[in-house]
Amino acid sequence: MKCRVPFVNYPEHYCRIWDEVMKVIKEALSKGDLMLRHQLREFEENTASFVGVKYGIGVNSGTDALFLSLKASGIGHGDEVLTVAHTFVATISTVVHCGAKPILVDVGEDMNMDVGQAEQAITPQTRAIIPVHLNGRICDMGHLMAIADKYNLIVIEDAAQALGASFNGKWAGSFGLSGCFSFYPAKMLGGAGDGGIVVTDDREVAEKIRLLRDHGQQRETGEFLCHGFNSRLDNLQAAILDIKLKYLPEWINRRQEIADLYHQGLSSLPELKLPPQSDEFFFDVYQNYVVRSKDRDRLVAHLRDSGIEILVSWPKPLHHHKALGGLSQFHLPMTEKVSDEVLSLPIYPELSDEEIMLVVKTIHKFYEQ
Ligand SMILES: *Cc1c(COP(=O)(O)O)cnc(C)c1O
Repeated sequence: MKCRVPFVNYPEHYCRIWDEVMKVIKEALSKGDLMLRHQLREFEENTASFVGVKYGIGVNSGTDALFLSLKASGIGHGDEVLTVAHTFVATISTVVHCGAKPILVDVGEDMNMDVGQAEQAITPQTRAIIPVHLNGRICDMGHLMAIADKYNLIVIEDAAQALGASFNGKWAGSFGLSGCFSFYPAKMLGGAGDGGIVVTDDREVAEKIRLLRDHGQQRETGEFLCHGFNSRLDNLQAAILDIKLKYLPEWINRRQEIADLYHQGLSSLPELKLPPQSDEFFFDVYQNYVVRSKDRDRLVAHLRDSGIEILVSWPKPLHHHKALGGLSQFHLPMTEKVSDEVLSLPIYPELSDEEIMLVVKTIHKFYEQ
């Protein structure tokens, strides 16, 4: 069956900003602005101020934003890092790549870290916590920062899905020592390829990450100050992203509108668990609209058969992947439960009201059968 509601729609997305994007690409190419130029610096400054922090350092992915944040914080062998299993694999892989040990904590009903359980998992080896703000909703950062202060732990936020979200008036990425964002095309702010950024208020961390992303070299003197990596954000991507950043508040608005329409259309179905809604504390940006159903696999098949693209993130919990090694000892009942129940409905600014209604109607039809 022909796809009637795609999960992402990049052609339509770029269609709407075509001239502006082409203009900055032409400008950059005609001047040879390809590496570490003003477009990158401007985008880094604009993103940092969007999040409400001092520094932004563009890197080549959200994964490297996490990895370089861990490195710059001095985390390595012998250290334990608390995070969740209900996340994209990179959150955990970057901890392993640093030589540290990931300690997996279960999630709560909001699918973010259960902070109470995190406190129980703290040992003398614990050095850091990586909360993940999944689906565009911030983890309970009030409680988490209090625990981090009490035990003197470094907080690195995996905010890859939450650019523009806030909790108690404070933006995702501005709570911890550093905040990590991804510009993977399908993210809140997506590049025309891979990209990421670290934001921080800490000058030393900012300088260290600037070195690490560029082979450890101090460009002005040619001196290598450490062994680094090649993880620069492409100047061309930065130029495109800077155009798109201006539209982000508008796009967040539309995502919230879509979430409201889904909520209105689906809240009468007792078989379906809907995501939490924004309130006076949480400003959610709906990177994903994730619902839960006990009959998930059949519902997903029904939607797909009706031409609606659905994503399941993630059907098999990360601690059950044997090849990832050393994770199977964690007992995470809620993570396992949500892995069996979650499905993501299409949500992006270009989605039309008609498409949303078609998704709602198709779900109702499933439960009426
Ligand atoms: C996308 C994502 C990442 C990784 O970002 P990339 O840019 O794809 O490397 C990390 N964590 C979470 C929660 C993500 O959604």
